[in-house]
Amino acid sequence: MSSSHAAYMREWRKKNPEKVRTINRRYYRTHGYGVRAVAGRLASQRYREKHREEGKVYSRQWRKAYPLKQKAQKVRYRGRRSMAVNTLTSEEIRTLFSVGQCFYCGAKDDLTLDHFIPLSRGGNTTRANILVACRSCNASKHDKMPTELLGQLPMFR
Ligand SMILES: [Zn+2]
Repeated sequence: MSSSHAAYMREWRKKNPEKVRTINRRYYRTHGYGVRAVAGRLASQRYREKHREEGKVYSRQWRKAYPLKQKAQKVRYRGRRSMAVNTLTSEEIRTLFSVGQCFYCGAKDDLTLDHFIPLSRGGNTTRANILVACRSCNASKHDKMPTELLGQLPMFR
């Protein structure tokens, strides 16, 4: 059926060039842009894959050049994903980091911004709920409430 149908269509197209054009136009109107958009997406995906290494090097350099900005961006991004209130300003972030040591253990290296009451537990990204913690304290705290930390972090021992 399919081959005879194909042959019939070939004949029909030869005899009705006007109708073929109309159909093609109509198809393009409803599908043309869609098809092009998919092609564009695939092309940009291929581009990203091809340039992934360059992108990694670039973001590594950016992180090194702007460690504070990167940390602020990260904490803001996490805040944005939830329904939490986010009023933390760049100025407040600068003030927080100017303390220069981990709120929990006093370490001076590898400082990150930490939600005292975790976002997942209803905490907000506000000056009052953000403090500076070293990566290791931040990680061991994870999404625990301050009261659950007793005995687990140096300052609560
Ligand atoms: Zn610490």
